[in-house]
Amino acid sequence: MDLSRAAAEALDAADPLAGFRSRFAGADEDGPDRLLYLDGNSLGRMPLATPAAVSRVVEQEWARGLVGSWSQWIGAATRLGDDLGAGVLGAGPGQVLVSDSTTVNLYKLLVAGATARPGRDVLVCTKDDFPTDRYVVAGVAGARGMTVREIDAHVDTGLDLADLAAALDERVAVVVLSLVAYRSGALADVAEVTRLVHESGALLLWDLSHAVGAVPVDLDAIGADLAVGCAYKYLNGGPGAPAFLYVRRDLQEELRSPIQGWFGQRDQFAMGPAYEPADGIERFGVGTPPVIGMAAVEVGAGLVAEAGIGELSTKGRAMTDLIVALGDEWLLPAGVALASPREAVRRGSHVTFAHPQAWQLTQALVDRQVVPDFRTPDRVRLGPAPLYTRFVDVWDAMDRFRALLADRSYEAYPAERARVT
Ligand SMILES: *Cc1c(COP(=O)(O)O)cnc(C)c1O
Repeated sequence: MDLSRAAAEALDAADPLAGFRSRFAGADEDGPDRLLYLDGNSLGRMPLATPAAVSRVVEQEWARGLVGSWSQWIGAATRLGDDLGAGVLGAGPGQVLVSDSTTVNLYKLLVAGATARPGRDVLVCTKDDFPTDRYVVAGVAGARGMTVREIDAHVDTGLDLADLAAALDERVAVVVLSLVAYRSGALADVAEVTRLVHESGALLLWDLSHAVGAVPVDLDAIGADLAVGCAYKYLNGGPGAPAFLYVRRDLQEELRSPIQGWFGQRDQFAMGPAYEPADGIERFGVGTPPVIGMAAVEVGAGLVAEAGIGELSTKGRAMTDLIVALGDEWLLPAGVALASPREAVRRGSHVTFAHPQAWQLTQALVDRQVVPDFRTPDRVRLGPAPLYTRFVDVWDAMDRFRALLADRSYEAYPAERARVT
């Protein structure tokens, strides 16, 4: 691979997604002092169309339409869910609902799944999964008298299929897994994982938070049971954006949400005496949906759908390949280790490096206009977003990383992460 800056410029010149950059706030700044934002997998950039979409809801529908606007808003969670399904999740209509946070959706589907597998008393997750996933699994297990089996997934290379197979038997009700691991970016082997879990008779609940908008998901094609995910990362839906959930159509009848809210109720406005779940995906609704936030999700997810997940994933792989190659050349000789899978087909759209002073390096990078993410215990995570990050942005960020390691200026930063109280 040609590792020159000119080669990175050539990749940008040939990039079919290059035009999307100018549709995000701040993304097409130029010049040597521009911000190199490599944390789109934590909080995506703001699409320039978002303020107008949000203000339409606020200033027209709310300010003028008042309560009458509910006629438009009432079906928004399923309408937007169908759009997400068609545009980015590979899910046919009636299987995706936009609602709540990822954490709440995970809770709802986990309890619903466990209840639908009576007689099975084990929940499976991985030791290194995102904290909220592990906490929800532990909480649900505790409340139901179930046992948790935590698979010892490798922090850098992800889940070993043999370890998964060893954790599965006729006691397992639900397996919770991230499609792309939040720390390393390791991409699960979807076909094999699905086969193993289904062979055991358990349900599989995917967390797509670090995958959606970065890698192809194709929920219907892979025979997914249940999935949840986040809309403020690669979907650019904004801070606290409502999340989504997916329940395969033929499972919907069998599953019931543990939160019997009126937005999951059949014939909601009959205001009847007892809860009876709605038919279809709407039964996983809870309360009044966040209408303003959904307007922002619609814009962000719409851009991802317009770009096409195939192009996005191809560019994501090329950018992370460049990071890995530059890392081999510049960072590894300076005491940094690659903490992500080496082959692009085994990764999502981020790459992580390990260094004993990762926290100091992260602070120094931020001061040099490079925004990565620090991840415990000693990781610097670089997440280029294929919609708006350029190859030269990646190259320049790596160049600043290299310079820091050479002049050791990061050593001047606090070694301990200040406790946020
Ligand atoms: C970001 C992320 C979440 C976020 O959950 P919230 O309820 O939105 O805070 C959950 N799971 C994974 C795997 C994530 O990456």
